Amino acid sequence: MFPMKFDHKVLETLPVPDTERIQEVLQILRTITMGRVIPYFRKKKGTDPSVIARVVEHLFIKRLEDAENHIHTVSLLSREDKTWIIHIHERIFDYLAFVIPSDPESRLGGHTGEEKKVLAFTEFLLRHEIEHMLYPKRSEREVIRSDVKHAEEILNKYLKRWLITVEGAVHPG
Ligand SMILES: [Zn+2]
Repeated sequence: MFPMKFDHKVLETLPVPDTERIQEVLQILRTITMGRVIPYFRKKKGTDPSVIARVVEHLFIKRLEDAENHIHTVSLLSREDKTWIIHIHERIFDYLAFVIPSDPESRLGGHTGEEKKVLAFTEFLLRHEIEHMLYPKRSEREVIRSDVKHAEEILNKYLKRWLITVEGAVHPG
């Protein structure tokens, strides 16, 4: 689970992407996973390559439909035998579809501020969920701690402050 809540109303007015755009965004998410998140674990965290290979082989990403607005977290993780699925809430997914350019790599250096923020957030979200898969025994709190560390390494102080607030909210005291 990515323990960040959001306001459904704020994102409700976004256009719903068509099937083709959904596939395109899923492909972008896979590219970010393979091109940035997995190398992070392999190079920086020294994660066992055989564990990485197993997770990557059985990893799926889906747009999570929530017509009734029952789900208030950005993403959820499910596991069935070897298969892991990252479910990204439709409001968040549609927001990504709205902001992320079709081919992020082709516009390196040419991103708008909003695109950069969204790409960083997406990578951050995927990194969180993939840490759960690679280290299934780690608690939510432990994964959030490493989010904070990661934020220190690559992201700005604003995000770090936000995560500390999240940790306090999820696990008071
Ligand atoms: Zn989590």
